[in-house]
Amino acid sequence: MGSSLPYLDPRLSIPERVSDLLGRMTLPEKVGQMLQLNGKDGVRQHIEDMHAGSILHASPERVLEAAELTRRTRLGIPLLVAEDCIHGHSFWEGATIFPTQLGMAASWDPELLERVARATAVEVAATGVHWTFSPVLCITRDLRWGRVSETFGEDPHLIGELASAMVRGYQGDGLDDPTAILACAKHFAGYSETQGGRDASEADISRRKLRSWFLPPFERVAKEGCRTFMLGYQSMDGVPVTVNNWLLNEVLRGEWGYTGTLVTDWDNVGRMVWEQKVYADHTQAAAAAVRAGNDMVMTTPDFFEGAQQAVAAGRLDEADIDAAVARILTLKFELGLFENPRHPDRARQQAVIGSAEHAELNLEAGRRSLVLLANDGTLPLDGGFAAGADGRAVAEADAAPRTVAVIGPNADDAQTQLGDWAGSSGQADWLPDGHPRAMIRTVLDGFREHVPAGWTVTHARGADILTVGPDPEGEFFPDGQPRPEIVVPCEPSEELIAEAVAAAEAADHVVAVVGDRIELIGEGCSTATLELIGGQVALLDALAATGKPFTVVVIASKPLVLPPSAYRASAIVYAFNPGMQGGRAVAELVLGLVEPSGRLPVSFARHAGQQPTYYNQLRGQHGSRYADLTQRPAFAFGEGLSYTTVAYTDLEVLTDVLGAGDTLRARVTVSNTGGRPALETVQAYVSDLVTSVTWAEKELKTYRQIQLAPGESREVVIELPVAACTLVDAEGRRVVEPGAFELLVGPSSRDDDLLRAGFTVKG
Ligand code: BGC
Repeated sequence: MGSSLPYLDPRLSIPERVSDLLGRMTLPEKVGQMLQLNGKDGVRQHIEDMHAGSILHASPERVLEAAELTRRTRLGIPLLVAEDCIHGHSFWEGATIFPTQLGMAASWDPELLERVARATAVEVAATGVHWTFSPVLCITRDLRWGRVSETFGEDPHLIGELASAMVRGYQGDGLDDPTAILACAKHFAGYSETQGGRDASEADISRRKLRSWFLPPFERVAKEGCRTFMLGYQSMDGVPVTVNNWLLNEVLRGEWGYTGTLVTDWDNVGRMVWEQKVYADHTQAAAAAVRAGNDMVMTTPDFFEGAQQAVAAGRLDEADIDAAVARILTLKFELGLFENPRHPDRARQQAVIGSAEHAELNLEAGRRSLVLLANDGTLPLDGGFAAGADGRAVAEADAAPRTVAVIGPNADDAQTQLGDWAGSSGQADWLPDGHPRAMIRTVLDGFREHVPAGWTVTHARGADILTVGPDPEGEFFPDGQPRPEIVVPCEPSEELIAEAVAAAEAADHVVAVVGDRIELIGEGCSTATLELIGGQVALLDALAATGKPFTVVVIASKPLVLPPSAYRASAIVYAFNPGMQGGRAVAELVLGLVEPSGRLPVSFARHAGQQPTYYNQLRGQHGSRYADLTQRPAFAFGEGLSYTTVAYTDLEVLTDVLGAGDTLRARVTVSNTGGRPALETVQAYVSDLVTSVTWAEKELKTYRQIQLAPGESREVVIELPVAACTLVDAEGRRVVEPGAFELLVGPSSRDDDLLRAGFTVKG
């Protein structure tokens, strides 16, 4: 092919190149361009027979094969290679796996998340992958849902801050930078409003409710230039998101002016035929999906024939296909793929993947992800240690050496520590053993490598969590598909418990590491219960009965309900799957080599029956208890302890009568009243005292993170545009309603923790 063809000429504008190329494409080539097919197999057919525009879930070998095949196609249109690189390059063996999104959200630190996303993009871009299906902007509502670990938690403001940071990190300084990858805001929108926590159930959600809580983070990243959006699986008011004209066209493309590319979720178009049964065949489903504005159709091979038949039958205008293809081609031109298809680059992979620099960043993210939920003063152990040059704790010369027993099923389970969307979590089959063990530091590794010289670290598993077994409903579904195996909790083992108790009795301090496992996490793995399962509760009961001081460390995907014996522990440390360096971070925290600073991005239940427990619920319900239990969460959004104490005093609103265009300014004195440094997250909530519609009692509006040395006191200034003090009125409009408000400032969302000061917004 001569390079004289206009679409190959980089001096022409992108619209000119798109229009030239589109004019050369046949209908099958255009429809194929809209397809994103499963790269696990059949890559040759996808590219040669179906002209696929994109593949996902391709092993490193398949990515190479696909690159070569694409080069030889008639028009040489480069392929977009996509993958779920959601906390690191998930399925690239030896890539840096960071804490899960929920874990990173506990840092409340957009700047840190931007660096993590940048590092991820640098690793991903070297492997021939151009597009990550991250970040997730779903709001956690029901903790039984299997995908809580993929979210930034329960608050729209915090989600917006962190999602925006990750998008910036992935997309870098511009798509033409070869280390930039496409970000994807998902799952648009309302997917997490599940019923009973069940995945992809119909979301019982009004347009007003969407506008109130679910849409704002998406609106923010749409306007900030997140180049792609993925649509959720669920339907709302009977309409699958895939064909929700109001959401896709009126709101996203219309009101927000979004010009990016939309991708369906897995077989969303096919599901409308075989699962949701809203279309009789693929011709109808394809026509509806294209008309609704979908660009890339993920893993629905039948779309290929369906869309062509729809055009032939006059059900679909070819111009609608052209519009979608133009958006996909624009993306490819913007990435510069026609000039540099960004194929895998082995030299670069060696330089950047799993690099020491990224491991250091991962350690920082791991440390910042941990949340200290309880502490009777036992932690840090022995009052805390300084780190030597090798990172090991250094004890005073005359201090007595100690024994620490590190006990529990998650104390030394490297792959479980990584959580979902990593290595052997189930989505990719080319790394059955997960990520290299040598890259991962479990809690046991952490203690072995970081206790002071001369200390002893012992270990006992103490309990098993689960096995899997056949589904009693049969091996196959009625349509012949195999049913996944089901979780079978393990019985407590007297033998394992006896070993653990012996280790505890011989130790000075016990660290019990419990939690969940991959079989309880993810799509299709929502849980009916939130308790620790298997032998874990019996283990904690037995450890508590020894009377030894013990710290409970929970390594889990989401907030779990802890048994009474866990509350008898000296301390509770929560680690939402804290990444490859997470075990080291836990040991460092317990030893006082680092300060705890994480704050909960999500509230914890005392019982699964309390669902939902999120903090910003609507006013108006009668009472605040069940007959048999309080409704108060076990731990609330924003909570988390430091090793020091921090006091908030003298909250003052500087101008207390403001217009809608003004900025509220307030100051508060924050003092470190203890003996160790603090990284304090100063949280500012707003309460609108009388509203035209029922509204949340308070909403997080802004926050600041400050370092405070022991004894240091600082005046912190809070600035908040009045324009942020909105609600969504009965007509669905986001407005500021003049009247009386309160600013609430403190260390968590709990009322007892917050100082209050009034202000008025003038009409
Ligand atoms: C998930 C998406 C994911 C996609 C591709 C779907 O099942 O819902 O979050 O990006 O698969 O792996």
